[in-house]
Amino acid sequence: MNDPNSERGNGALVLFSGGQDSSVCLAWALERYPHVETVGFDYGQRHAVELEARVAVRAAVAARFPSWAPRLGDDHMMDISSFGAVAESALTADRAIEMTAKGLPSTFVPGRNLVFFVYAAALADRRGLKALVGGMCETDFSGYPDCRRDTLDAMQTALNLGMAQDFVIETPLMSLTKAETWALAKGLGGEALVELIVADSHTCYLGDRETLHPWGYGCGTCPACELRARGWEGWVAEDRPALRP
Ligand code: ZN
Repeated sequence: MNDPNSERGNGALVLFSGGQDSSVCLAWALERYPHVETVGFDYGQRHAVELEARVAVRAAVAARFPSWAPRLGDDHMMDISSFGAVAESALTADRAIEMTAKGLPSTFVPGRNLVFFVYAAALADRRGLKALVGGMCETDFSGYPDCRRDTLDAMQTALNLGMAQDFVIETPLMSLTKAETWALAKGLGGEALVELIVADSHTCYLGDRETLHPWGYGCGTCPACELRARGWEGWVAEDRPALRP
């Protein structure tokens, strides 16, 4: 019998929002690490939909992937609503999604990923987990400076110095396009994982769970839906051209 405590030493903590990217990261981590826990952050988002998607994706992964189920450990939710209050933006307040004078989308929450990693690292320290896995991506760069690998390299150094730790920040999607992220999902878990991500993960900024598209639920017009739809179409064109409309 393996000691679960020693497996945790090689374990991973996935920053898990219930979106497409972090769902693929969860599968990636389950394929690679013997023990995987998830952490989500409640910073006063507009939509409880995202928090429900986390539960649905985890349950579906456990039910449909028997080789991953024993590796899937605890889920943690951290309330960082005081940060949400400071960083008020379109995601946390009823403000239109538009570009700001700095060229950043109004959905940008300053320092959000940095805060996530500080909390995640403190949790990983307590749980004995070494890898911190995040779905940040600089390929389809939306102007989020805290998604850059340079930023996360600096963050990893700061966390390891400041916590006397040996964490590794893993960002498996960093160099992938959204189409390639679908391809990665299929490579990890086949059509079953693609179907799971379509049905259970949530991306839409407006929280639409009524309208089902080939790529999942969403309003179809917000920037998050547009990115997800474009990625899906790009992937379908490569992966199964016969199914193209
Ligand atoms: Zn949408």
